[in-house]
Amino acid sequence: MFDCAIVGGGLGGLSLAILLAKKGKKVVLLEKETYPFHKVCGEYISMESWEFLHRLGINLTAMQVPLINQLTVSACNGVAIHQPLQMGGFGISRYTLDAELAQIARQAGALVLENHKVESVDYQGACSVLKVGNQNIEAKVVVGSYGKKSNLDVQLQRKFVTTPPPPDQHYIAVKYHIEADLPINLIGLHNFEDGYCGISKVDNLADGAARYCLCYLTTAKNLRLNQNKIQLMEENILMKNPFLQQYFSSFRKLYDKPLVISQINFEPKKIVENHILMAGDSAGLITPLCGNGMSLALHAAHLLAPLLVDFLENRSTRTSLEQNYTQLWQKNFAKRLAAGRLLQKLFGNPLLTNLSVGTLRHFPAVVQKLISLTHGKRF
Ligand SMILES: Cc1cc2nc3c(=O)[nH]c(=O)nc-3n(C[C@H](O)[C@H](O)[C@H](O)COP(=O)(O)OP(=O)(O)OC[C@H]3O[C@@H](n4cnc5c(N)ncnc54)[C@H](O)[C@@H]3O)c2cc1C
Repeated sequence: MFDCAIVGGGLGGLSLAILLAKKGKKVVLLEKETYPFHKVCGEYISMESWEFLHRLGINLTAMQVPLINQLTVSACNGVAIHQPLQMGGFGISRYTLDAELAQIARQAGALVLENHKVESVDYQGACSVLKVGNQNIEAKVVVGSYGKKSNLDVQLQRKFVTTPPPPDQHYIAVKYHIEADLPINLIGLHNFEDGYCGISKVDNLADGAARYCLCYLTTAKNLRLNQNKIQLMEENILMKNPFLQQYFSSFRKLYDKPLVISQINFEPKKIVENHILMAGDSAGLITPLCGNGMSLALHAAHLLAPLLVDFLENRSTRTSLEQNYTQLWQKNFAKRLAAGRLLQKLFGNPLLTNLSVGTLRHFPAVVQKLISLTHGKRF
């Protein structure tokens, strides 16, 4: 019997595993993939997580991760805002970061099982039973940190699965690592019709290429209109933005094929489902233009760990654990997710973005205010 079973080894799950293992708890983390692996993500982490990652054992200073403190936002027509970022962030690939955290989790005493896909979670009162292949794993409490959408959401019949969003809100995301010649401290956010594309520096990995992450979100409709061909969509739609025209025509792609995911949903979700405490994207996905979904996942683990320790040491009941976590989550993140959803409406519509970027570039204080609405404090 484990104290805690964590489903999904992304940032939320791995950081929670480390925190609980360091408190002497018996933790198992189940991850369906094998580290290291690439993930669709813009790989820009807001500075709010800097100290927390150091406390977990990731020495970002020694890793010399690129520090990012300048922002360029361009409208579909190429008109751009250039601004310093007040808090800023840094770039690190998920390939590197997730694998490092998995190693630290193991060193701290957590059992990290790769290539283990959880098929179901059955709550039985004193414990829950997780089914993985023909294995059953028992734990006193289960955390769902399995990301944006997973087979477990279907098993749990979560509302966003049973009531899909309208067709114009079916999103896909595409990511490349590219070799580029751009300022190291700059993050670019470039609009195109029904989507936006981020580009910023990450660590160089073993090949030593000057590696940048280029990642975009768009509608499934844009892909359908282009014979379901990514390259055609990029040529016909993304490259109408002069910045993206230059990037796609001059930068060298470092993978043969892009990573692509679909069915991305930004609707609010329940924080606890069938006694599974959700952390990270499984509790709610902030729109990627905010550039801080990773910090939210890490921060959720930071909030949840002490509540779990209290429960496991009999200082609180399961009901109060679930209520307290839901309240803390809502207090810390709900407004930021709502602001992100609103801001996303400004992006992707050519007329609106041309107008808003054209206007906002004369009001830098308003831009800073908009950014701050989606960001939190260092934790
Ligand atoms: C296009 C796009 C760009 C983004 N850019 C940024 C950015 O620049 N900065 C930022 O901060 N955030 C960004 N985000 C958001 C960020 O990627 C997420 O918020 C973050 O990864 C959430 O971490 P997580 O731990 O919740 O989930 P994840 O990192 O997705 O981890 C979930 C893990 O669960 C595993 N899993 C799933 N189902 C199961 C199962 N049944 N059993 C076992 N394992 C399972 C998966 O393999 C995965 O490893 C972006 C998101 C998108 C869509």
